[in-house]
Amino acid sequence: MRENLFDDRKQAVRDNLQRIMEQVNNEVVKSNRKIDELQIMAVTKTVPAEIVNVAIEQGITLLGENRAQELLEKYQAYSKDDVAIHFIGHLQTNKVKSIADKVQMVESVDSLKLAHELDKEMEKLGSVMDILVEVNIGGEASKSGIPKEQTEELLGQISTLQHIKIKGLMTIPPICEKKEQVSHYFEQMHQLFVDIKAKNMDNIDMSVLSMGMSGDYLEAIRCGATIVRLGTAIFGKRDRPVNV
Ligand SMILES: *Cc1c(COP(=O)(O)O)cnc(C)c1O
Repeated sequence: MRENLFDDRKQAVRDNLQRIMEQVNNEVVKSNRKIDELQIMAVTKTVPAEIVNVAIEQGITLLGENRAQELLEKYQAYSKDDVAIHFIGHLQTNKVKSIADKVQMVESVDSLKLAHELDKEMEKLGSVMDILVEVNIGGEASKSGIPKEQTEELLGQISTLQHIKIKGLMTIPPICEKKEQVSHYFEQMHQLFVDIKAKNMDNIDMSVLSMGMSGDYLEAIRCGATIVRLGTAIFGKRDRPVNV
């Protein structure tokens, strides 16, 4: 029985990804973007490794992990050849050590303290961690991320760390009822990204803009996203709630 249920779920992932790839390709053409400047991330929270591996078989090369504990549980079971893993959730400093050798990027850096902890750990590993700075573009009290106005200052501080390489920005915009509202936040993010890039700050490489989730990824692509992070659109509704 269980296997049959998994078979249905696997087929749904194949169908979903085919539809998503078509929509993304159409949007890329409409927006005058290039397909090779865009990555589709599969966000794996609550999804069994066996199902995640179906997305990888279908061509997904980037996974997004929210929780250190869940990553550790599933890590061995992922088909990891040619797949990168990015950490996208709130990262407690005491969890840094457990994930530092398993992910290629931490997208959710929003404090100097966390950057310092990552730097220390990467020094021990004799390596460098790529990061994005997470921006709280809607200025919501409940959300992680640095306020837009403080982004440049934090980037400047982090850029002095030897074992960290800043690659760009990430955001989770406020929940919006209308697509125009969410596009407004994406446009603000893109403008911030472009403005910072133009400053050519030392040790800061503004090449990645991670924004857009299942409900709004086409808008995000239109506004300049280089990574869209998709959970439910690929894997279906999550069967248990998660704290993100
Ligand atoms: C869960 C999550 C996503 C994906 O959300 P969906 O709406 O399921 O696509 C993207 N980014 C972050 C940071 C998340 O926690």
